[in-house]
Amino acid sequence: MSGTENTQKTAAIVLAAGQGKRMKSSVQKQFLELGGRPLITYALQRFEESGVNQIVLVTGKADVEYCREHIVKAFGFRKVTAVVAGGKERYHSVYEGLKALAGQGISHVLIHDGARPLLTDQIIRDALEGARAYSACVIAVPVKDTIKIGDENQFAVETPRRDRLWQIQTPQAFSYPLIMNAYEKLFSREEYQNGVTDDAMVVETMTEVPVRLIPGDYRNIKVTTPEDMILAEAFLGAAGQGVNA
Ligand code: C5P
Repeated sequence: MSGTENTQKTAAIVLAAGQGKRMKSSVQKQFLELGGRPLITYALQRFEESGVNQIVLVTGKADVEYCREHIVKAFGFRKVTAVVAGGKERYHSVYEGLKALAGQGISHVLIHDGARPLLTDQIIRDALEGARAYSACVIAVPVKDTIKIGDENQFAVETPRRDRLWQIQTPQAFSYPLIMNAYEKLFSREEYQNGVTDDAMVVETMTEVPVRLIPGDYRNIKVTTPEDMILAEAFLGAAGQGVNA
């Protein structure tokens, strides 16, 4: 095979530096046992077996050593080239991950919430393809419920057209130079950082590049609250990736 695709280096940033307060558990959610393994190992495993060339794991400062020994080494994730400490907000953690990939000739990067263990090979392939075709894309699913915007007194003020609404997941995938420039601009002024909740938003607000929405999978949930663990167990079991995987 020829073409630039095969010579381009791709990377994944897996985020696990959140505190997971909504899980109400003494163990951080990314290290909770799911089907007999720490939750974070599922997404890492999918990237390890994917076409992505290297992985950066971003974790809490206090968990860097634990992750190196008990996650990366213990589970044999050979593509993980760096475990770095994240920051206060998700966007701080992403920036640390992006900086860890600087100067390595990375063409495209996939940014993924480590708290989404139901990532599939198909989603990774679609995200990579989307990044190559559009420079910026996010995995998303059409919303099933009607969504309303409420005012400060909890009264409905607007009902956006449901057929235009998408629920945004990860991976979010980008040309590496594009997302790195967007993040550098984001960090050049503190007011740019107000209300940033995902990477696509950084590209939308800091650049002119449109972000493509790529249909994903309703099972690719973010494990946030205790009932999400039950859902994730059920989906993993149904996918045949249960306790013995
Ligand atoms: O907090 P939220 O559920 O949006 O977090 C999404 C992902 O981002 C999780 O995998 C979490 O570990 C990660 N995160 C992070 N650094 C933060 C906050 C969240 O890596 N400061």
